[in-house]
Amino acid sequence: MGLLDGKVALITGGARGMGAAHVRLFLEEGARVVFGDVLDEEGKALAEETGATYLRHDVTSPGEWERAVGTTVEVYGKLDVLVNNAGILKFRRISEMSLDDFDRVISVNLKGTWLGVKSVIEPMKAAGRGSIVNISSIEGYVGAEGLSAYSASKFGIRGITKSAARELARFKIRVNSVHPGAINTAMALDPDIVAEVDAEAFVKSMVIKRFAKPVEVSHVVAFLASDRASYCTGSEVTVDGGLLT
Ligand code: NAD
Repeated sequence: MGLLDGKVALITGGARGMGAAHVRLFLEEGARVVFGDVLDEEGKALAEETGATYLRHDVTSPGEWERAVGTTVEVYGKLDVLVNNAGILKFRRISEMSLDDFDRVISVNLKGTWLGVKSVIEPMKAAGRGSIVNISSIEGYVGAEGLSAYSASKFGIRGITKSAARELARFKIRVNSVHPGAINTAMALDPDIVAEVDAEAFVKSMVIKRFAKPVEVSHVVAFLASDRASYCTGSEVTVDGGLLT
């Protein structure tokens, strides 16, 4: 028996990194999975390999949300789980950051998450239940040099999560957030970060002294998505190897 047997899940930003790990684990745990991204080549390759359904889906577009949710319900008959995973990071100190870059980070990470929550309310109400997992970050708790826009967006995801948890409990929709620390993906290897951050000192500051594999976050996401987390809503779970400890 899988943790997610019978569930239909929509995962954003699923073509690579942690999103791709969520796609793979959700399938292993018995879910049927639709995932979106703006990286068509990677998305199609993962769909072909795993049997999940790939859609081009830019999370900043209300029309593309409508299409993604509509297609999920059309293909699989319902929608039980949304993982708002898509995200971008621009490493720039405030004095050097353009307004366009600031707007883009807020648009993908914060507006994209809000649009996702808004778009799945009706189908989850129709299903009589639902689980939404929003991916924030440890930068949702603390600031970091060069990450003002990213950190603001990840703090904001906590606000969306908690408000939505209160608004949607009456429809048996649970809403929780996950806060990864240093995870081994393309985002963590962003050349601007690598150039500025002393990776060795960073690892030394951790309690578990290594970067995580993406799937180590996926297990927590899958738990929150599942019925085992039936009493969790408005919860925040850090997966950070003790970085904030
Ligand atoms: P990643 O860059 O490998 O993956 C992000 C995915 O989101 C990519 O596939 C990208 O194409 C997609 N994406 C970007 N813009 C999009 C858009 N407008 N619409 C749809 N998809 C879009 O990075 P990752 O590390 O796998 O990040 C996944 C999530 O985890 C992000 O929300 C990120 O902020 C968060 N996070 C990452 C770390 C880390 O250390 N890697 C730490 C904390 C939180």
